[in-house]
Amino acid sequence: MATWEPVGPDPDFDEFRATLRRFGRDRLAADYPRWQREPFPRERLLELGELGVFGLLSPPDLGGTKGAGGGYVPLGIAAEELSRGDFNVSYFLQLQAIGTQLFTQSDADEVRQRWVPAIIRGEALASFALTEPGVGSDAAAISTRAVQDGSDWVISGEKASITFAGNSDVCAVFARSGGPGAGGISLFCVPLDLPGVSRRAVPSSTAHLTQRGSIFFDDVRVPASHLVGVEGGAFKSAMSAFDFNRAIIGLACVGAAQQSLDETIEHVKARQTFGQPLATREGVSFQLAEHLAHIHAARLLAFETLRLADRGQRHVTEAAMTKWLGPKCSVEAIHACIVLHGWTGFGEDLPLAQRLNDVMGLEVGDGTPEIMKSIIAREALGVVSHR
Ligand SMILES: Cc1cc2nc3c(=O)[nH]c(=O)nc-3n(C[C@H](O)[C@H](O)[C@H](O)COP(=O)(O)OP(=O)(O)OC[C@H]3O[C@@H](n4cnc5c(N)ncnc54)[C@H](O)[C@@H]3O)c2cc1C
Repeated sequence: MATWEPVGPDPDFDEFRATLRRFGRDRLAADYPRWQREPFPRERLLELGELGVFGLLSPPDLGGTKGAGGGYVPLGIAAEELSRGDFNVSYFLQLQAIGTQLFTQSDADEVRQRWVPAIIRGEALASFALTEPGVGSDAAAISTRAVQDGSDWVISGEKASITFAGNSDVCAVFARSGGPGAGGISLFCVPLDLPGVSRRAVPSSTAHLTQRGSIFFDDVRVPASHLVGVEGGAFKSAMSAFDFNRAIIGLACVGAAQQSLDETIEHVKARQTFGQPLATREGVSFQLAEHLAHIHAARLLAFETLRLADRGQRHVTEAAMTKWLGPKCSVEAIHACIVLHGWTGFGEDLPLAQRLNDVMGLEVGDGTPEIMKSIIAREALGVVSHR
């Protein structure tokens, strides 16, 4: 009997999708549990670079493919497909895409030319530092300081819960160069080998791959050329990075959930109880039907968000919707898959429990469900509920 396959967002990308699905299956899946215990080797980052997945948002003169086959929709396809093999690899896609998008905005060769091509090739790893120990959801309240001293900027403060804190080479650092509120925040490109930078990765289940933790800036001096964009204008850049990345996160979660559903479909067709395959029981098949529908709805919403982004249209509401729905529906689907596998679902022989844990991390990362709902409400109702 034919099995249903979701149709891709655009047939032009079918070959790209098939290549990445093969890479996820053949190259990533077997090692997914390994990076809970061992560091992710840097050579693998070069392999991802060779696939072309880090240059999708950058112009060809910097080595990217934006406007020449690249864009937000193919980035979403990459997130969905690679996450089927290893959910956490989607962090590389997210942070490299954000890094290239932000640093491409710089006029300075020391930022644009030095870092963007290296990130695209996978030779350099980027991080994005907004969150601080005392400030997460209310990001406009950050207190890391940037003070001008001659032709340099001097940065001081702690950034917390930063993905790739332990292993990134360059960081997009948001710091307060002016007065209170969103209008006083500037963006700096900070090479992480500078004097005054130290880091501490925090133990977690994804620690060896994502190296999430704190980056400390102790009077770190960067030249004026490392201020990216307009002084005091960086909050908008942060929010526009969030907007596309929320759909990338949605699709990474969808990929992990779809893979879990596909594996569970095979399991319930094979596993018999009381003389019948589990798949013949409505109590089982209807659960899977519901999750397939929810996951497909989340997928369509995410690609709709990315299509708007590719067309340069506003996509704030859709991004918040997909960031809420994608992780939520995926957590629910993977949870059901674990239970439908019986005792084997919880074991380390299957990737389901690891996927559930990892997807839950991105219910919070990049904005919590409550903040997503408050954005949707603000845009639709005109009321601000989170200030
Ligand atoms: C896996 C992961 C990766 C991350 N990577 C990065 C990164 O690379 N760079 C970076 O800068 N940050 C990163 N973060 C940090 C992340 O962006 C923050 O955790 C997030 O914005 C929430 O902030 P918080 O943890 O301080 O929670 P808080 O802001 O303290 O919120 C705690 C709880 O209160 C709720 N809440 C807060 N305000 C309101 C309100 N007004 N109304 C109702 N409920 C509210 C929230 O929804 C949440 O449930 C990452 C986090 C995770 C989990």
